Amino acid sequence: MATTLSTTNHRSDIVGLTYIYPVLSRRAGGLSIGINFNTNSACNWRCVYCQVPNLSIGSAPAMDFRLLEQELRRFLDDVLTGDFYARFQVDDDKRVIKDIAIAGNGEPTSLQEFAEAVALIGRVATELGVFPASKYILITNGSLVHLPKVQEGLRKLNEYGGEVWFKFDNATDTGRKLINRSSQGVQAALGNLRLCAQLCTTKLQTCVFSYQQQGWTAEERQAYLAALKAISADTPIRQVMLYTLARPSAQPEAGQLEKASADTLNALADAVRALGFEVSVSL
Ligand code: SF4
Repeated sequence: MATTLSTTNHRSDIVGLTYIYPVLSRRAGGLSIGINFNTNSACNWRCVYCQVPNLSIGSAPAMDFRLLEQELRRFLDDVLTGDFYARFQVDDDKRVIKDIAIAGNGEPTSLQEFAEAVALIGRVATELGVFPASKYILITNGSLVHLPKVQEGLRKLNEYGGEVWFKFDNATDTGRKLINRSSQGVQAALGNLRLCAQLCTTKLQTCVFSYQQQGWTAEERQAYLAALKAISADTPIRQVMLYTLARPSAQPEAGQLEKASADTLNALADAVRALGFEVSVSL
């Protein structure tokens, strides 16, 4: 029986590769090629909504560059000239590579050789004609941007016309501890965000949901909007992506989480638009 790739089928082992997994993305309207540096499912945060099973605290393991390049070339070749789309029964109107996204089972910028890996993907995808037509995206929690090796990687990403999706769920230290289990405070996060925006096009990503039946408190909402107002004044960031829980959390808190309603997300989107941002909402 043929395997299908659907917008809900995000199995990373579907093509049997170590670093690469295809996702038929509803968001992007085509094929999104995910690249997972965190093959050990390790992250420096532990968000309560994280979908990574057996998540552990830590960094990405050393990269096998030969394998990454081999897999990327083989996979892109299969998509561009092979029967990949037919094998996975992808509809004709979705047979386009929308993006290559560095996003995996943990924080990708924790990879020691982060800049080299960003450069390798950029070089291979450009050589095979995928860039610049398709987007090059890094999805990050942004907590390591103060490190020179990460900044070097962001410069490389920028050289290939890439963009950063920077996670910013809460604008209070308490909220960040509660939701992201991050000890990095808001001021440090905003410092990293400013640095990031200087080095590469940056968009904000915010997951909105209710935890322990509390929703977003008035204090959190106020702090979030105040932080965004400051960001709009002193960074070139102009886009905010709001979304809610789409798939079940793999963390022990899973039973205490609830999706945000369309009304909650739309009301927040209006408030963020009023600050001058372009806002997208994913329900
Ligand atoms: S930053 Fe991403 S990978 Fe890390 S715990 Fe949060 S959701 Fe999971």
